[in-house]
Amino acid sequence: MTGPKKGGEAGYLRIATEEAFATVEMLQSFDRVLDGGDPDPGFLSLMGFYMRHKSERATWVFERLKDLGALRIADMDARGIDIQVIGLTSPGPNILDADTATGVTRDANDQLAEACRKHPDRFVGMAAFAAQAPQEAAKEIERAVSSLDMRAAIINSHIQGEYLDAPKFYPVLEAIEAMNVPLYLHPNTPPRAMIGPMLEAGLDGAIFGFGVETGMHALRLITSGVLDRFPKLQVIIGHMGEALPYWMYRLDFMHQAAVKSARYDTMKPLKKGTVSNYLCENFFITNSGMAWEPAVKFAQDVIGKERVLYAMDYPYQCPVEEVVAMDAMEMDIKTKKMFFQENAQRLFKIRL
Ligand code: CA
Repeated sequence: MTGPKKGGEAGYLRIATEEAFATVEMLQSFDRVLDGGDPDPGFLSLMGFYMRHKSERATWVFERLKDLGALRIADMDARGIDIQVIGLTSPGPNILDADTATGVTRDANDQLAEACRKHPDRFVGMAAFAAQAPQEAAKEIERAVSSLDMRAAIINSHIQGEYLDAPKFYPVLEAIEAMNVPLYLHPNTPPRAMIGPMLEAGLDGAIFGFGVETGMHALRLITSGVLDRFPKLQVIIGHMGEALPYWMYRLDFMHQAAVKSARYDTMKPLKKGTVSNYLCENFFITNSGMAWEPAVKFAQDVIGKERVLYAMDYPYQCPVEEVVAMDAMEMDIKTKKMFFQENAQRLFKIRL
């Protein structure tokens, strides 16, 4: 299939907002974890596949993860993608020890910033940070936004089984809020305590485990009250909101019931009341990996048109047919332009 043309011919630019890359240095650290004793089962399943499997899919994706130049731009051109908003691929630094993670992250941010400087019309960067060292991470976020022109911070969900609502991570959230950039909460494979039955059935990765684990992480940020502590924080979640929009009614009902009965110490009344109020005021949703018109429209309906953004999920999922399908959605051109271009422009401060 011939791809749609970039450049605004459709009435909008296509800004893909959840696109991945990897540095050689991070991959070398990953190799050491894979070869070490008892690697995390989710990590072994995910990067053991993409880094070492000989299948066409694994080698195709792995080659592209490492490219921040001609190959990536050719792929974008072939699919009609004007701009990629790029972040360090899952699990990023989360799987590494604090010192290694901090070093890998700083270097990755420098490399991504360099690629963005070389291709200012095509690439926008999201800053990685090593939450294992929260104070260092806060500094790195400040550096990456103020000196490297990064437009978001990105984390690949849990940090070896820990979640961002833990008080030890407050300095990170404080820095993100203070720098006035969104936090992209990207999936990771579920942690050891959660992955068992999923792994057994081959459901641990992008097919299901990613969404369940990341959706839970997003919910924890809400129900723990962390978003009352950092009320300006804006969180982006991909994959059509990791199923949360579809669950909103029940989340609200059961959350209210649990709060009222004081069933859990960890679930106190929230300033904004319901879970859905936070989803509609503190979250943005991208359709990475979900090129499905009914789901896009449902999210626009329940979360708001101004909060639903286009994404591709390069290089993991990027058939040109998906761009064609999203172009063909039955949707007024004003809303479609918000989806493909304007919401991303505003959120990531993209100057055209
Ligand atoms: Ca992704």
